[in-house]
Amino acid sequence: KSGFVAIIGRPNVGKSTFLNRVIGQKIAIMSDKPQTTRNKIQGVYTDDEAQIIFIDTPGVHKPKHKLGDFMMKVALNALREVDLILFMVNAEEGFGRGEAFIIERLNEVNTPVFLVINKIDRVHPDELLPIIDRYKDLYTFAEIVPISALEGNNVERLLEQIKQRL
Ligand code: GDP
Ligand code: MG
Repeated sequence: KSGFVAIIGRPNVGKSTFLNRVIGQKIAIMSDKPQTTRNKIQGVYTDDEAQIIFIDTPGVHKPKHKLGDFMMKVALNALREVDLILFMVNAEEGFGRGEAFIIERLNEVNTPVFLVINKIDRVHPDELLPIIDRYKDLYTFAEIVPISALEGNNVERLLEQIKQRL
């Protein structure tokens, strides 16, 4: 099995931390060079059963300056071309305008989306359910997976779920 997975989310939610943990020593490619104008490969995970190519998609989160229509189309097309989108949010910060902006974009693509709620090591378990409910109201996610990219909680499980989707 192999496939392309885009990781999107506001800055500082933990996207790089997650990738570093998943790819770790298994790293095959780690490059800042744009592979195409649309996206860049951040890393490739490989094991006996799967190869997962993680893609960074610029221009999806809320821009500081107004993005041109063209740039927005480029970003959306990139999301349409991947097999799966991981939308990462920070459990500590809850839902904000940045997340609302991304969900609007997700409504324009048909690619399945996992909501990855990161930094669960920073919140009480009771705080998780309201966050999940909030997001469930806004979008139909293929999976909702709480993790701690830093401590590793649930990361293996998320990886399994990703593989099942490829
Ligand atoms: P990115 O901008 O989305 O790539 O976010 P980074 O991976 O650079 O992480 C931003 C900050 O959040 C760093 O200081 C990380 O150490 C921290 N961080 C990432 N994941 C976790 C987590 O699961 N728990 C905690 N407590 N901190 C995290
Ligand atoms: Mg990063």
